[in-house]
Amino acid sequence: MTDLHDELSRAARQLIAIEELLGGRYIPAERNPLDAPESLAAPASPGAGPDAAPGLAGPDVTRDERTAALTAMNQKEVKGCTKCALSQGRHNTVFGEGDCEARLMFVGEAPGRDEDLSGRPFVGRAGGLLDKMIAAMGLSRGQVFIANILKCRPPSNRTPAPEEVAACWDYLMRQIRIIRPEVIVTLGNPATHALLKTRTGITRLRGTWQILPELAEGVAGIAVMPTFHPAYVLRYYTPQVRGQVWSDLQAVMNKLGLDVPKKG
Ligand code: URA
Ligand code: SF4
Repeated sequence: MTDLHDELSRAARQLIAIEELLGGRYIPAERNPLDAPESLAAPASPGAGPDAAPGLAGPDVTRDERTAALTAMNQKEVKGCTKCALSQGRHNTVFGEGDCEARLMFVGEAPGRDEDLSGRPFVGRAGGLLDKMIAAMGLSRGQVFIANILKCRPPSNRTPAPEEVAACWDYLMRQIRIIRPEVIVTLGNPATHALLKTRTGITRLRGTWQILPELAEGVAGIAVMPTFHPAYVLRYYTPQVRGQVWSDLQAVMNKLGLDVPKKG
């Protein structure tokens, strides 16, 4: 009974999040007139079931070992990091958070004001929308991993400078290698450009499956779905932009074998 209740409220929360994401105009995937990524038609990847232990860096790496590796990197390296000048103006580093075995990882740009003050990723307004995006996929924050290219806030939220990205790079590479997600969603231009080594704009790249290049040992080959940054969606809060983000998220759900709810 409780299980059924939990399942129903989970499904209801998901539908509400979809409605909110789309501004009350929920369009099932198969009837979404906005550009549907090709992969929507593709079958879910084999072995995507709960027992397949997907995303493991190696079958011998346990959950405890991953947690320990991430915790040690955060406590012993990131928290006291002075590898770039952003260390001077920060209140807190923002390491990232979530499931150390997440099948899905979101990578944003850098902490903003709220994140700098709290030490947690995506907790401000953009974070509220990211929460909705995650809920629309039928997931919770604790089931994914959320990180940024930079672990410290740039002054006035300016775009990360190349030398800052370079200084912080190793942390993100190691996060990806430890978590080894099946899919990375890059949020906006800076994350997309850095991880895909491209200058192509997000408007052209979003909705198309990409492959993580050999950026560092043990990270190549992960599927990447670029989409708009939630802050961009908040600025251009149109049915089209929101529909595009939902379409991108549905492509990810399909790849991960997650149910896209049907309605009507
Ligand atoms: N924007 C980002 O890119 N990352 C955050 O953590 C918050 C806002
Ligand atoms: Fe270190 Fe990254 Fe912060 Fe720069 S942004 S000080 S490299 S943690």
